[in-house]
Amino acid sequence: MKKWYAVIGDPISHSLSPFMHETWFRENGLDASFIPVHVEPSDLKQAYEALLILGASGFNVTLPHKQAIIPLLGGIDDTAAAMDAVNTVVRSGKSFNGTNTDGDGFVKSLLTMKPASDSRILLIGAGGAARGISFALKRGGFEDVTITNRTYRRAEELASETGSKPMMKAEAEHRLGDFDIIIQTTSVGLAEDEALPIGLQNVRPGSLAADIVYNPIETPFLKRAEEEGCRTLNGVGMFVYQGAIAFEKWTGIKPDTEKMIQLITEKLGGNYVNR
Ligand code: NAP
Repeated sequence: MKKWYAVIGDPISHSLSPFMHETWFRENGLDASFIPVHVEPSDLKQAYEALLILGASGFNVTLPHKQAIIPLLGGIDDTAAAMDAVNTVVRSGKSFNGTNTDGDGFVKSLLTMKPASDSRILLIGAGGAARGISFALKRGGFEDVTITNRTYRRAEELASETGSKPMMKAEAEHRLGDFDIIIQTTSVGLAEDEALPIGLQNVRPGSLAADIVYNPIETPFLKRAEEEGCRTLNGVGMFVYQGAIAFEKWTGIKPDTEKMIQLITEKLGGNYVNR
């Protein structure tokens, strides 16, 4: 029987997940579809039950449902529990189990830039994505992680959970030159937003600046970092790798990520190359 998968969120029309997974189904000769489903927060429980009854084999969860979905699920794995957020759901008989592939997706993307494992890393942000990334960095053997955030208390909380160091934004700005890798995980820099999450005047040329926002493909943070002589990594890789880990959990197949990074980059109207 034809299998089907979905992504649920509010809003959802901008999502590139249907394009990505349908392309991979075709490339791998799988008879399956992937549909975007607009689910408002008040409809989440009913939507979940519908996905179950109508036989979805799995689905992705995006904003604002990544936490609210948890009590509805049959279970979640350790990664999702540590992050307190789910982005991927896999069917198990008559229920669904949740996991989270965002953090590992980012680390896979980071590894393409061949960073040393003793790199001094500054993580900007303490929201859902930063949580996933900070746990995944530790799992990936990156020990020296400092977290800064607009709301300092959240940086402190996340740092204490992951064995990282918290730092006030003003101090991080002043000491930016101490870091080899700076990872921007806040929502600052989304389309039309020219703001920077941190002043980059003290950054060290040659250090790596990574942004997880991928639309626009070259954010103001990356533009400015490049002007200051940094190497840069945009958010497309994280998006594609988190999807590839989900795809493998659903189908057992490792999809072609290199080609997909190119396709998504073209779809976003960019010829941007990570350097
Ligand atoms: P979230 O949980 O809402 O966290 C938002 C973060 O941004 C918090 O640290 C927040 O700081 C900070 N922030 C928001 N507005 C700010 C401002 N004006 N100045 C300074 N800091 C600000 O969101 P999330 O789920 O972590 O997602 C963050 C971004 O990552 C989104 O743009 C999302 O699209 C992107 N993302 C990309 C991928 C990918 O595959 N590439 C995957 C997941 C998410 P406070 O704590 O002070 O509020």
